[in-house]
Amino acid sequence: MKDGILVINCGSSSLKFAVLSHAGQHILVEGIADKLGSNLSSITFKCDGEKKQIILDDGSHKNAITQIKLWLDSHPNIHDSLIGVGHRVVHGGETFSKSVLINQKVVDGIEECAKFAPLHNPAHLKGIEIASELFPGLPQVAVFDTAFHQTLTPEQYLYPIPMGLYRDHHFRKYGFHGTSYRYISKQLATISKGSHQQGVLVAHLGNGASICAINQGESSDTSMGITPLEGLMMGTRSGSLDPSLLSFISQAEDISAQAALDILNKKSGLLGISELSNDCRTLEEAMTSGDERAKLALEMFAARTAKYLASAATTLENIDHIVFTGGIGENSSYLRQAVCNRLKAFNISIDSELNESAPRGENLNIKAQTCTTNVWVIPTNEELMIALDTINLIQH
Ligand code: ADP
Repeated sequence: MKDGILVINCGSSSLKFAVLSHAGQHILVEGIADKLGSNLSSITFKCDGEKKQIILDDGSHKNAITQIKLWLDSHPNIHDSLIGVGHRVVHGGETFSKSVLINQKVVDGIEECAKFAPLHNPAHLKGIEIASELFPGLPQVAVFDTAFHQTLTPEQYLYPIPMGLYRDHHFRKYGFHGTSYRYISKQLATISKGSHQQGVLVAHLGNGASICAINQGESSDTSMGITPLEGLMMGTRSGSLDPSLLSFISQAEDISAQAALDILNKKSGLLGISELSNDCRTLEEAMTSGDERAKLALEMFAARTAKYLASAATTLENIDHIVFTGGIGENSSYLRQAVCNRLKAFNISIDSELNESAPRGENLNIKAQTCTTNVWVIPTNEELMIALDTINLIQH
């Protein structure tokens, strides 16, 4: 049976792709085109355990997708299995509360939402346009990072600013990582029956990081806002702070508001505090060798994650499950422990041996025996979710 889906995550300077088959369970090929828009760009294909890199003379998005098409042409068994293309789209605003088959109206809607994601949405649109050109017979589907959070109530999504700003400009919390949260909620329901009727807190901790409260299967609160800058401290993003800082920074450093915002997006977070790296693994190694600043950055990251988890719990009846996911959540036993240490007031505790020996890539409950809240490590899989949405929409 033909069921191959080409999943495309087209960013402003990189493009990740994969072909998934067998209801998204098998990865036939995957790869990434890096440094697009520069003369240093390349594309890597990983297939059957082998890696092949091609230097791109022309680092355009079009050339990257053309190379994917050429690779598929030379692997006809994979090419011929394709039945659709699924695109990750960062911002769907209030227009999209679920994944959709792409037509001109959807393209216009994604374009309209570009005002809130000026780097991402235009790149996605480019990916959609080029993919429709190069794969003319295949239906295309858009899967939105914001869609899962469209269930938030107004008391959660509104900012306490004049209502006219919401009415006229749609300034509100949207939230991101929704595809990951939807996957985790679905996965949790298969390993812990009944969780769909319960209260779940999820910490998606990667270079970008956020938390989400899921009440009876629906997002009830999340930490990111109108953009992914709000909420937790991240790799290079500050997360939430007093908004007055923006004008203080711009005045003190004699830079524009946009340049000050760039500092909060690109030079803050783990990188800003450690003055070493935005990468958690590098910081853990530095901390082990006695670097106090790396330790402080990691402790701040843990403290803020715990604080946002606690605050999102106000939208739940009970904290039945806490889930750690994302590159840091899945792999850093140190940060999982540091976050849970700060949730003692909620009677959260984990088994430190289980936590430290958690095997990579597997689902595991690491709660302490005495703790009534399940504490899970569950690897996320956004590509699988995009492939499944694409299959569902094509078949209905
Ligand atoms: P992105 O937001 O870019 O998708 P990822 O989810 O890939 O980010 O997470 C990247 C982060 O995960 C990096 O900070 C990296 O150091 C961290 N990470 C990956 N493996 C480990 C590990 N074994 N221990 C600690 N941190 C890890």
